[in-house]
Amino acid sequence: MHSFKSLFPTAAAGGAGGYDTLVVGAGFAGSVIAERLASEAGQRVLVVDKRRHVGGNAHDRYDEQGLLIHPYGPRIFHTNSAEVFNYLSRFTEWRPYQHRVLASVDGQLLPMPINLDTVNRLYGLQLTSFEVNDFFARAAEKVDSVRTSEDVVVSRVGRDLYEKFFRGYTRKQWGLDPSELDASVTARVPTRTSRDDRYFTDTYQAMPLHGYTRMFERMLAHPNIHVMLGTDYRDIVHVLPWKHMVYTGAIDSFFDPRHGRLPYRSLHFEHVTVQPPAGQSTVQPVGTVNHPNDHLYTRATEFKHLTGQRHEATSLVYEYPHSQGDPYYPVPRPENSALYRRYESDAEELSDVTFIGRLASYEYYNMDQVVAQALSTFKRLVHP
Ligand code: FAD
Ligand code: UDP
Repeated sequence: MHSFKSLFPTAAAGGAGGYDTLVVGAGFAGSVIAERLASEAGQRVLVVDKRRHVGGNAHDRYDEQGLLIHPYGPRIFHTNSAEVFNYLSRFTEWRPYQHRVLASVDGQLLPMPINLDTVNRLYGLQLTSFEVNDFFARAAEKVDSVRTSEDVVVSRVGRDLYEKFFRGYTRKQWGLDPSELDASVTARVPTRTSRDDRYFTDTYQAMPLHGYTRMFERMLAHPNIHVMLGTDYRDIVHVLPWKHMVYTGAIDSFFDPRHGRLPYRSLHFEHVTVQPPAGQSTVQPVGTVNHPNDHLYTRATEFKHLTGQRHEATSLVYEYPHSQGDPYYPVPRPENSALYRRYESDAEELSDVTFIGRLASYEYYNMDQVVAQALSTFKRLVHP
């Protein structure tokens, strides 16, 4: 075990007037742990983010026309954890919202996740829930050991549905064939024999009533928290005094990719604001339309469905997957996990730095999982 500071003899020591904790990143991971450390442990906390806003990838803002948009793609909050929901409820009221997704397949817009209606409408059938269960069983391919994202789907619903709904989308999203990705990726999307067309079935599904950014601002509005935006932590880490660091950026970057770059998938976003046709307030029937087989983008999301905002115009975001750009998704496959573990063991050697969040843990976490990780890390740091 050694300390980060001992590697840099010029680093200023934490002391009177310094910070107890330097938090790198003002996303969910950084903001939650900063709030806990300041309010519950009475610490002086400095939060640094290289972006010029709080909220990390969950940041939202009003565009020039006054529409509330998510610049980094749509974020829908859902969780089964009462602890996480109650914690966040201290900083926001909620707008109940259940997300629905349609997939554009064979000229129709069909419910995704695949459900009874998807199958009946795609194949022109009138199956019941029991019958569709048999339908899936007959179509399913026998897979001895479900390892990849292809295995998951073909073993549940067979090759035709796999090719229509999953193969093209996944190739576009990840730049990899589903057979090259861990099972956990497509396993995020269930298959249903009912007509339930909600994307998520979690106990708590809601959007922050006044947006994510407002929630983050309230979380960070503690007198013991100092927020420094538009600043790379490397520019201040050896100048400002601190005792412990919580780092929530990409873990390979922290170590100046000494073992080689960890792949993170990126996206480019195209935001479009349009005037809905007369008599309509939106242009899509649901929040998100997925495009597994056409277009270069994977999905189009219309924010008014999510936010409930009333406005004469409407704003959509189209997501174009990329290998270059800001890191958004860890890429779950065995060789990447092996590379991550080398960074993880370097991280464990540092006594004065804690790594949390989606990019630092190299885990495909949803927002609630990041909040849960930050809350449990706080407890561990304060009561080791
Ligand atoms: P981030 O939000 O990435 O925060 C890390 C911060 O660290 C960033 O602000 C970054 O600028 C900063 N940083 C990095 N390096 C440095 C540095 N050197 N110096 C200073 N600052 C630095 N989850 C859901 O629950 N529901 C959804 O609907 C959902 N949709 C998603 C859609 C997309 C397109 C993506 C990519 C993710 C989605 N997620 C969703 C996941 C969710 O966005 C993440 O789990 C969550 O935002 C991660 O929070 P974080 O704090 O770990 O990371
Ligand atoms: N997926 C797919 N077709 C779809 C929706 C999802 O193939 O219509 C696959 C794809 O590989 C995607 C993964 O399932 O990356 C997880 O989907 P999810 O909607 O959870 O992705 P996220 O919202 O995290 O981008």
